[in-house]
Amino acid sequence: MTELPVIEPSALSAVPTGTRDGVLRFYFGPMDCGKSTLALQMNYNHGRQGRRGLVLTKHDRSGGPQVTSRIGLGSEAVEVHDDLDLVALVRGHAPVDYVICDEACFYTVEQIEQLADLTDDHGIDVYAFGLASDFRSQMFPAAQRLFELADEINRLQVEVLCWCGRPGRLNARIVGGRMVRTGEQVVIGDTGHAPVRYQVLCRRHHRSGDLGPSD
Ligand SMILES: [Zn+2]
Repeated sequence: MTELPVIEPSALSAVPTGTRDGVLRFYFGPMDCGKSTLALQMNYNHGRQGRRGLVLTKHDRSGGPQVTSRIGLGSEAVEVHDDLDLVALVRGHAPVDYVICDEACFYTVEQIEQLADLTDDHGIDVYAFGLASDFRSQMFPAAQRLFELADEINRLQVEVLCWCGRPGRLNARIVGGRMVRTGEQVVIGDTGHAPVRYQVLCRRHHRSGDLGPSD
């Protein structure tokens, strides 16, 4: 007769009590799909529930340490520089329940690891927002790491359309009226004044480089 295995009580409590795992979520989509608006809405909703949060960004369209959206919302934010240790930053602001990371595609890969440390070692919820791919339709290293590590991946339902009416999926970089496929991965020119601009295209027209009849 086989004996039923005895489960030691200690095995049932392998996860230390009092430690709550955080969750790491990545929300991605092309420009203009409402990422920053959702980030700000999420911050507002969590704040109303009494949760303590920290908002981070990098290269926001405002050019300052804040998150802004095209529909006029805004929030103070910490500007993320390449050498900023996000674990130390968040611990320095303790207690923090959650962190909103806007423009996370521009963080370093090491900083994405730090976000995972925050969820696993400190029980902090991390909500990251950003582009998946660059103007060549290739993944940003930080976005790739988020795809690899996140508990949940969410493609934001695209409200922006290509000129042809298909869903906008990819960002094209346009210099002097022509789409380019080579250059630095990050060039911030979305100010309305810079010679570099970006346009969201469907996959078909990103691949063919067709900017539509108006261009
Ligand atoms: Zn198209």
